[in-house]
Amino acid sequence: MRILIIEDENKTAAYLKKGLSENGYVVDTAFDGSSGLLLAETNEYDLLILDIMLPGRDGWSILSEIRRRGKQTPVLFLTAKDSVQDRVKGLELGADDYLVKPFAFSELLARVRTVLRRGPVRQPDVIRIDDLEVDLPGHRATRRGNRLELTSKEFSLLALLTRRSGEVLSRTLIADQVWGMNFDSDTNVVDVAVRRLRSKVDDPFEKKLIKTIRGVGYTIDDE
Ligand code: CA
Repeated sequence: MRILIIEDENKTAAYLKKGLSENGYVVDTAFDGSSGLLLAETNEYDLLILDIMLPGRDGWSILSEIRRRGKQTPVLFLTAKDSVQDRVKGLELGADDYLVKPFAFSELLARVRTVLRRGPVRQPDVIRIDDLEVDLPGHRATRRGNRLELTSKEFSLLALLTRRSGEVLSRTLIADQVWGMNFDSDTNVVDVAVRRLRSKVDDPFEKKLIKTIRGVGYTIDDE
């Protein structure tokens, strides 16, 4: 899951980036409205976290511009403004949620998960592939009812594979979506991570779900 934060207070942006990264999200940051809008338009994000008062272009205008161009990326507003009018305006413009500063990180994380669960395209909360169950909002996975102990990156990788099960995902795409690395980076990290994930998801079970497609990448299915 990839998130863009547009926030001109460096400290807040850094704090959010750190916290969200630790929870398995890939996070980009922009510190002014114009560069934020550019990033939002050129990359695919699962969520935008938008401050309202920004140099260059305010959060309202970023949101309306994105919606005008047909992008349904969910938006969470983060702002010191807390009047009812501001809140109503944000929701009318198509914001998905609204959080008033100062806030606890745990509160933000809960909102982020809720908004992502709703998503632009509705996804089931729990994805089942054979006897594997991946609970996306709950960040947990089980096989035959047994909890799999996964790190946050391993969970992100499993979530990506299961959300797109049946599709063959290239190492480049996986590296981008799970680690935020571009294609020039060493994609060996993907092979290493898949091996670790397999040791937990597949090795203890007779039926193997994660498949290597030689020369292409990885897929998960119950064929
Ligand atoms: Ca601001």
